[in-house]
Amino acid sequence: MPQIPFALRDDPVGAYPEEWVAAFAEIHERPFRAKQVFRWIHTRSVADPARMTDAAKTLRDKLASWSLAMPAEIREVRRAADDTRKVLIGFPKSPAAGTVETVLIPPLPDEDDDEAELEADDEAPAVTGLRVAARRVTQCISSQVGCAMGCVFCASGVAGLKRHLSAGEIVAQVLLGRTLLDEGEAIRNVVLMGMGEPLHNYDNVARALRLLTHADGMNLSSRRVTVSTSGLVPEIDRLGEEFKGEIALAVSLHAPDDELRSRIMPVNKKYPLGELMAALRRYPLARRRRITIEYTLIRNVNDRPEHARALLRLLRNLPMKVNLIPMNPIEAAPWQAPTRDDVLAFQDVLRKGTDQAVFIRRTRGDEIDAACGQLALHGAKAVKRKLPMIGERHGGA
Ligand code: SF4
Repeated sequence: MPQIPFALRDDPVGAYPEEWVAAFAEIHERPFRAKQVFRWIHTRSVADPARMTDAAKTLRDKLASWSLAMPAEIREVRRAADDTRKVLIGFPKSPAAGTVETVLIPPLPDEDDDEAELEADDEAPAVTGLRVAARRVTQCISSQVGCAMGCVFCASGVAGLKRHLSAGEIVAQVLLGRTLLDEGEAIRNVVLMGMGEPLHNYDNVARALRLLTHADGMNLSSRRVTVSTSGLVPEIDRLGEEFKGEIALAVSLHAPDDELRSRIMPVNKKYPLGELMAALRRYPLARRRRITIEYTLIRNVNDRPEHARALLRLLRNLPMKVNLIPMNPIEAAPWQAPTRDDVLAFQDVLRKGTDQAVFIRRTRGDEIDAACGQLALHGAKAVKRKLPMIGERHGGA
C-alpha cells in the first residue's frame, strides 16, 4: 500500500487542494480525485475514506492505509436555554494535547449587528454543506491550547500557553460544529475569539483562514471571518497585507491608557497604545467595513465615565464599532462584573461623543459558562492575580 505523502502526513485537514493534488500525483491518482477528497472533508465534514461513497473503490483502498481522520473530536456539548451550544473539543492523537472550546451562537430575534450591511456585500452562501439556510449561527473558535498573553481578567490566560493548534485543528472545530447544527441553521460567521491569541499562532491561523474561505471548501465570505487580537502589531500589519484587509479585525482594548492597559494586559508593554492605534489606522479595511473594538468592563477598574471619555479621545476618527462586554467573573478571581447602571452610563458617554456604533454585548449561554476559556478551564488550576482597583464608589471588589 502507498504511504501517506509527506505533505499530508502531519495535518491532512490543514492541507490546501493543490497539496492534495501533489500528494495524489505521487500515488498516480488524477487531480479531480484529490479535489473530491478535499471536498468530502471541507464541505461534508467527512475525513474517513471509507465513508467517501462517490470515490472509486480503488482510491478508497489506497487511502485506507493513510489513516486519515479528523484531528479533533467532540468531548462534551452543553446547550443553554437560548440554544447557544458550548462544545469541548479534544484531540485524539494525544491525551496530552489538551482541550479547547468552541461555541455555536444563534442570533437573537432582534440582534443589533451589521447583518444588513454584510448581507449587501455577500457573495457566498452560508455554510450548510448542501443548502442555504435561514438561521445564521456564529461560531467562536479557538486557536491555541491556553494563551501566553496573560490578561488578568481572562480564564484562558490563567494557565498560560500549552501549545499552538494546527491549521487542521482550527478548521476541524468548524467542521465538527457544523454537525451540531439544528435543522435550518447554517454557520454564517466565524470568529477567532475562543481560547488563545490567534496572531501568536499566525502561520496556522492564516492557513486556516484560507481554508475556511476556500471556494472548493466551506466558502465562507472572508468578511464574515473575524480575527480577534490583543494587539500584536507586526502580525496585524501582516494580516492586513496578506489578506488585503478582507478579514475582519477585532481588537481587545479594555483600557484607554497605557498605564492601566499594561497592568491588565501585559502585551501592552511590548506594543503600547500609540503603536497599536497606528496599526489599526493603517489596516487596509475593505469597503464599508469597520474595526471592532472589544472593551470588557470590569467593576471599578476600567468602567468609570473618565475611562469612557479617554476611550473616545483614543478612538477618534477610527472607522470602528465598539462592543462593551460586561465582565463574566472567573472562578477564584477577585474582580467583579460592572453594575448595569455603570454599563449604561459608559455606553451613554460613548454614544454622545461619536456617531459610530456602540453596542453592549448580551451574555449568551450564561448558565453554561459560555465565556472565553471557561469550559476548557474546568479542572484547570486557577491562579489569583493582583488586579488594580480604582475609586471607592462601589467599595472595591
Ligand atoms: S483575553 Fe485573549 S489574549 Fe488575553 S489571555 Fe485571554 S485569550 Fe489570551
